[in-house]
Amino acid sequence: MNKADSLRLSELFQAEGYACTEELEEADLLIYNTCSVRHHAENKAMSYIGRLKDLKEQKPDIKVSVVGCMAQRLKGEIIKRLPLVDYVVGPSSMFDLPELIKKGKAGVYADSQEKRKEFPDVEYSSINTSSPFSGYVPIMRGCNNFCVYCIVPYVRGREQYRTKEDVLNECRLLAEKGISEIMLLGQTVNSHPDFKDILKVTAGIDGIKRVRFVTSYPGYMDKETVDIVASTPELCNYFHLPVQSGSDRVLKEMGRKYRVSHFRDIAFHIREKLPFAAITTDFIVGFPGETEADFNETLNLVREIKFDQCFTFKYSPREGTRSAKFEDDVSREVKKSRLAVLNELWSKLALKRNKLFVGRILELFAESKKSGRSSNYKIVHWKGAQAALGGKVKVKIIEALPHSLKGRRIT
Ligand code: SAH
Ligand code: SF4
Repeated sequence: MNKADSLRLSELFQAEGYACTEELEEADLLIYNTCSVRHHAENKAMSYIGRLKDLKEQKPDIKVSVVGCMAQRLKGEIIKRLPLVDYVVGPSSMFDLPELIKKGKAGVYADSQEKRKEFPDVEYSSINTSSPFSGYVPIMRGCNNFCVYCIVPYVRGREQYRTKEDVLNECRLLAEKGISEIMLLGQTVNSHPDFKDILKVTAGIDGIKRVRFVTSYPGYMDKETVDIVASTPELCNYFHLPVQSGSDRVLKEMGRKYRVSHFRDIAFHIREKLPFAAITTDFIVGFPGETEADFNETLNLVREIKFDQCFTFKYSPREGTRSAKFEDDVSREVKKSRLAVLNELWSKLALKRNKLFVGRILELFAESKKSGRSSNYKIVHWKGAQAALGGKVKVKIIEALPHSLKGRRIT
C-alpha cells in the first residue's frame, strides 16, 4: 500500500514538471514515505533521514519531506528530533504535498477526519514501475479492527471504501493504458462491502488477465470467496491471510476476531479446491504472555498448512495501542530464538511445497527478460529465449528453491 501511495505521489509531482531520481545528490526534493507498524521501521527511517545532515548543509535549498504513518504518529516530534526536515505530512494529506511545496508552506500537516473521508473520491490508481503491465488499485483504506498491538487504526483512521463504480472505472482506465494485471489493495481488503462483486467484475474487464488482492483479514475470509477464485480464471490463486498465531488463547489476547479452526477450515478448503494455490501469512512471535505451548501451536499450524511463504515478526510494543500497557514479558533472547525456529520450519516446508511444481508447466507474465511470476505469485527464472516485458510465457519447472522456481521456456 505504501508503494502504491509513493507511486501516486510521484505521479502527482511528475504532473507538476518534476522528474524522479534515485541519486540523492541530484534531488531538490526528498520524500520519505514511512511505516509505523514496528519500532524497527521507524528507527530505520529516522536514521536514513538523519544521514542527510551534511547534504542539507551543503544544499540548504533542498526540501526534505517525511510523509505517511510515522509522520502522522510523531508529527512535530520529527522536526524536533531532525531539524533538517521541512515537511511532515500524514498518509491522506500527502497528496497535497505538491500544492504545499508550491505555496512554500513548510510545517506539520497531520490528517484530520475530514481529510481521511476524501479518499473515496480521489482518483488513485498507480502503475507499478517494477512491472509496468501491472497496476495498484486501493479499494479501501484504514482499519476498524483495533487488534491490541497495532498502530494502523490510529495512524490511518477508520475504514473508508471506494465505490464499486469508482474501482471499476479505474480498472477500465488502466486496462485502456495497456495494464493487464490489477492488484486490489486494502489493509483488510475483504472487509469492503462489495468485495466479492468487485473481484468478479474486475476479472471480467476486457484486457485484464490477472487480478490479485491483498491483504485479506482471515476473519472475513469465507469459502464462497475461495470458490469465486476457483471458478474465475483471471483471479490469481494467491491468498495472503495473516494468521498471527496458531494459539486461540493468543489470538483472543490480540483481539483477532477469529479462531484457529476457522483459519484451518479456509486453508484446507483452498488446498482442496486449488491444490497449487499459494497460501502466505504473517506471524508475530513473543506477544505478551506467549508461552512455549502457545508457540508450539504456531509451529503445529505451520506443519499442518505448509505455507508457501511466511512473514515473521518479533512483537514490538507501539505507544498508544492497548498492548503497550501489557508487560512485554517474553525476553529478547526468547523472541529471537522463536523467530529463528519458525523461519527454519516454514522455509523447509516451503521448499517441499515448491518441489510439487517440478515437472509442471506454469504460465507466466514476464517481469524481466528471463523471469516472471505465476498466477500463484511464485517467482520463476527460466532458461531459453528472452521475453518482452508483460509477454505471456510457458515454462516447464526443473528446479525448486525455497523462495523461487527455475525452469525452461517452452513457448
Ligand atoms: N491488516 C493486516 C496486517 C497489517 S500489518 C492483517 O491484520 O491481517 C502487517 C503485519 O505486521 C501484521 O500482519 C503483523 O504480523 C505485523 N505487526 C503489526 N503490528 C505489529 C507489532 N506491534 N509488532 C510486531 N509485528 C506487528
Ligand atoms: Fe492492524 Fe489488526 Fe487492522 Fe491488521 S486488522 S491493520 S493487524 S488492527
